[in-house]
Amino acid sequence: MIQIEHLVKNYGSNCAVDDISLSIGEGEIVGFLGPNGAGKSTTMNILTGYLSSTSGRVSVAGIDVLGDPLNAKKQIGYLPEQPPLYLDMTVDEYLNFNYELKGCKLPREAHIGEVCEVVRIGDVRKRVIKNLSKGYRQRVGIAGALIGSPKVIIFDEPTVGLDPKQIIEIRNLIRSLGKDHTVILSTHILQEVQAVCDRIIIINKGRIVADEKTENITRVIENNRRFNAKICGPQNQVLSVLKDMQGIVYAEALAEKDGDATTYMIESAPGVDIRKKLFFTLADRGWALIGLEALGLSLEDIFITVVNKSEEDDAPTRYTRRAKAKQRVALESQVAEGLVADADKKREENSALVSEDDD
Ligand code: ADP
Repeated sequence: MIQIEHLVKNYGSNCAVDDISLSIGEGEIVGFLGPNGAGKSTTMNILTGYLSSTSGRVSVAGIDVLGDPLNAKKQIGYLPEQPPLYLDMTVDEYLNFNYELKGCKLPREAHIGEVCEVVRIGDVRKRVIKNLSKGYRQRVGIAGALIGSPKVIIFDEPTVGLDPKQIIEIRNLIRSLGKDHTVILSTHILQEVQAVCDRIIIINKGRIVADEKTENITRVIENNRRFNAKICGPQNQVLSVLKDMQGIVYAEALAEKDGDATTYMIESAPGVDIRKKLFFTLADRGWALIGLEALGLSLEDIFITVVNKSEEDDAPTRYTRRAKAKQRVALESQVAEGLVADADKKREENSALVSEDDD
């Protein structure tokens, strides 16, 4: 559905997008992540036909964005961070305005009615937009993007400024839109990407540094092996039982106390879920397990590590110092190396394809 090939965008001597190639299939929901200045907006602006590229090709539904911008734009619904709402219009006026602006040919009443139903704004169609809550305004913005039934919808930070209930509603809405549309979601909120997207693309300094299915990243996060366990019982005996337990490869008593409980850091063997066995072993001895906290990787850990790891390739000395200072655990590095290596491999494959084309 979306094809980006060797996209480069220079602003003077500053390279904002540095040879990005990627392909997004029909019905995928893709999260676009990256630190500020990574090149996300520039890439999206090129994709939506708002900016021209220095070189490279971008097509949407097979239509070249630079070659046939009008038709390419018809395939895309875009919700910028600040939706361009006309606050003095009613919702109906705004949607009709969008309908005409886009030269939509679908049956007007039925189409607008359908869009209102999808984003659940049927009850406020006659209301003036400025009198609506931020959550409703965001829905109206999404409705505007859906007019014309575009195949691709792009959201830029869609939940900024919303309250927690509205955030959940908008995330659910985005997820449901993924059934009939290809969705790109650009956000700083990592949990949002994890909750909504099938695939996560991380970009840094204009390059793709990771491109992975969310389920693979989630598996790494959930396949957690380190816990803090709060246990009531004689410390030396508890520690010795923990160390002898099959499936535990490491145990250590921490200085942390909570009444008569001590906190122990334990690590299980790869692939072993130690939690039930731990509970029953302790219960058999009359020692209460009053807390069990996973010390897992978060998406933040992975994000920071991937971004740092990608910078290691550019500046080994600087990274080593920074990495040491942060004392990243080996597992995180492995994950990051895997993701970065995948991204590098894809880039190399793309370069090889171009050389063949050139030949
Ligand atoms: P992101 O959306 O990931 O925060 P951007 O795409 O906005 O990143 O920016 C990527 C890089 O391009 C940054 O270094 C930014 O300063 C630079 N940049 C963005 N827009 C312009 C512009 N109009 N003129 C010059 N430099 C720009």
